Amino acid sequence: MYYEREREREREREIMGTAIIFANQKGGVGKTTSAISIGAALAEKRKNVLLIDFDPQANLSSGVGIAAQGKGIYEVISGNCAILEIIRPTAISGLSVAPSDINLSGATIELIDADKRECILQQIVEKIINSYDYILIDSPPSLGILTINGIVAAHQVLVPLQCEYFALEGLAQLLSSIQRIQNSLNPNLKILGILCTMYDARTRLAQDVVKEVMEHFGKLVFKTIIPRTVRLSEAPSHAKPITLYDSASQGAASYRALSQELIKRVE
Ligand code: ATP
Ligand code: MG
Repeated sequence: MYYEREREREREREIMGTAIIFANQKGGVGKTTSAISIGAALAEKRKNVLLIDFDPQANLSSGVGIAAQGKGIYEVISGNCAILEIIRPTAISGLSVAPSDINLSGATIELIDADKRECILQQIVEKIINSYDYILIDSPPSLGILTINGIVAAHQVLVPLQCEYFALEGLAQLLSSIQRIQNSLNPNLKILGILCTMYDARTRLAQDVVKEVMEHFGKLVFKTIIPRTVRLSEAPSHAKPITLYDSASQGAASYRALSQELIKRVE
C-alpha cells in the first residue's frame, strides 16, 4: 500500500509542465496582458502556474502587483541567486510570478559574451518545470537575446497579434527565428497558436485583419478572439488580472475561453 502511494507520487513527479513563450517583436500587441490573463484563467482551473517576467519593462510584474525588490529574474540569470528565491505568490491561488525589473536590460549586454548565452533561461526553466503545470514567459518587444532565450526555454510559442493594420508586419522574421531555433537549440519547439487581440468588432479593419490572418495561418489561429475592452486596459493599473479585477467582464470571459482552447491544444 505504502509503495503504491510512493509509486503514484513518482508518476506525478514525472509529469512535466509546459513552458509557453509569449512572443512578438512588435510592441503593444497584448503579450503581457495575455500572459497574465491566461495565467490567471489557468489557475482558476486548478492549474499550477508560474509567470516569468522576462522583459525589463516589468509590466507583467506590476500587472500582478509584484515588485522585484532587488532580487529579480536578472539576478537569477546572472547566477547571483536561485529562481526559487525570487518566486512570489500573487493574489490568485495557484498563480506565482518570477518578477523582473529594469536591471534585466543590462543582461542584453552581459549575455553577449556568456557561454551558451542563448540557453541561460532554458537551464533555469528545466530545474523547475516539474513543479508547475504551466510556465508562461513574457518577452520584450524585440528579437534580441532575451526573446531568443525565452524561445529556447519554451516548449510552445504563442504569438499575439493586434487586429490593426501592419498586424502581420515582422511576423515572417519572428517565424524564421523560431525555425532557426527549432533547427538548432530546441528541436521539440512548437507553435501553439496565433492569438488575435484587441479586436474591435465595430471596425471593418479589424474584421479584415482577422480574415487575412485566418487565410494565412488557418488552424494555427485560436478560435477565441480577444476583444478590445476598457476593463482589460484598466486591470494593470489596479495590479490585478482581469479575472480578479472584473470577473464577469467580457475580457475575463474571452481569456477563460482561450485558456480552455489552450489546454485542449497542449494536453
Ligand atoms: P510590449 O511590447 O510593450 O511589451 P505588449 O505586447 O506586452 O506590449 P500589452 O502591454 O499587453 O502589450 O498591451 C498594450 C496596451 O494595450 C496596454 O496598455 C494594455 O493594457 C492594453 N491592452 C491589451 N489588451 C487589450 C484589450 N484586449 N483591450 C484593451 N486594451 C488592451
Ligand atoms: Mg509587454
